[in-house]
Amino acid sequence: MNTHAAFFTRDRTANPWLDRMRELSPGIADRAARWDRERSYCWQNVAELSEAGLMGMTIPRRFGGGGATYLQVAEVVEEAARHCTLTARVLVEANMGGISAVMAYGTDAQRAFAAPIVLAGDKPAICISEPDAGSAATQMTTRADRRGDRWILNGRKHWITGGGVSKLYLIFARAFDEAGVELGIGGFLVHVDPANGIEPDGFKVVRLERTMGLCGMPEAELAFDNLEVPDDMVLRTRSGFEQGFKDLMTAYNSQRVGAGTIAMGVAAGAMDRAKQYIREREQFGRPLAEFQGLQWMIADMEALVHASRLMLFEAAHSAALSDTGFPDMTKAAQAKAFASENAIKVVNDALQMFGARGYGDLEPLERMYRDVRMFTIGGGTAQILKTQVAGSVLGIKTPQTRQGT
Ligand SMILES: Cc1cc2nc3c(=O)[nH]c(=O)nc-3n(C[C@H](O)[C@H](O)[C@H](O)COP(=O)(O)OP(=O)(O)OC[C@H]3O[C@@H](n4cnc5c(N)ncnc54)[C@H](O)[C@@H]3O)c2cc1C
Repeated sequence: MNTHAAFFTRDRTANPWLDRMRELSPGIADRAARWDRERSYCWQNVAELSEAGLMGMTIPRRFGGGGATYLQVAEVVEEAARHCTLTARVLVEANMGGISAVMAYGTDAQRAFAAPIVLAGDKPAICISEPDAGSAATQMTTRADRRGDRWILNGRKHWITGGGVSKLYLIFARAFDEAGVELGIGGFLVHVDPANGIEPDGFKVVRLERTMGLCGMPEAELAFDNLEVPDDMVLRTRSGFEQGFKDLMTAYNSQRVGAGTIAMGVAAGAMDRAKQYIREREQFGRPLAEFQGLQWMIADMEALVHASRLMLFEAAHSAALSDTGFPDMTKAAQAKAFASENAIKVVNDALQMFGARGYGDLEPLERMYRDVRMFTIGGGTAQILKTQVAGSVLGIKTPQTRQGT
């Protein structure tokens, strides 16, 4: 059976995690404005998600997780994102990305160490971006120098989602052996839990960004000043440091599907609200829904959300068919770029249908609009993702980095 057939014939009614998420949705929707207004992390939601087994759904059963597929997680993420973008982001990062990298490439000891932390409610942080290495991530300068059985990390990361609230940090750094010879880029796992006295020397949250949306999620600048990481906390793929970054980034394809799914879920939620509103609100003696100008907008919005969902869920499902266990890179990039760009349009159009009411904070539309804006930037910009897709469909290396490779 080819990818498409397998995807379309899957019985999508069997998703116990989605049922549990739906039970939590009303409370999560009620609290969504609060995290935004107070710029506070959604600890109450995290406790509920953890209790319901939604943190660490993808962790294999032998490590205490649920063994869920990425498609099942995507369905849960869409449901959460319809009500609270922040909660959906927590879900993505507790089930995709960093934790997936540990489960796929970590040693059994690393898996056994990380799993209970996530199951108890942690959303691991992935630390790649630096002030001078954004889209050109491999130009990072954070370094890790080998000293016996430890590595000494020095450098700075910024825009690290969850910095200060996360307990697990997967830090990417250039690794150097004892002789100072560069080995490649590796992933270093660091555990931080001040409430339980785990405060590694040399790990510092320097500052928090003041963001336009997703205001309850800390975006932090981190500094590492001779931060010691034991060698057994290095995430090594089979190809070692040389190809390590490339391998570890396969895990990031799951995070991209997750991020695109959040954008699509926010758009779906905004569209649902707009459909209800234009049926109820009357102008010129008729419900707004009877005006063709808005009907055609709704038709386009439906098509964009539907197309995004199909692309994203198919990308999520591609993980089940791949050797890596992660979504296909091209499908993930294409789906995230498409969904994130179109979600901005859909949420904007939904807000438009509310008129002035959409611009005020009596409705969640203005918050959703601010929230959804980030998904063409974080986790690989739309331009970089399209460059990847173009390279793949044209079968060429896209000569658009400084090195031209
Ligand atoms: C809310 C949020 C959360 C984030 N979370 C994390 C996180 O948890 N961990 C982490 O490591 N990073 C995180 N990031 C950082 C994110 O990955 C980077 O912002 C992103 O990779 C882009 O880098 P940059 O911002 O430096 O933009 P730049 O790379 O400077 O790009 C600026 C503009 O130029 C375009 N551009 C750059 N190169 C090209 C090219 N070759 N061709 C065409 N256009 C190009 C980009 O698309 C963009 O529009 C987050 C960012 C945001 C906004």
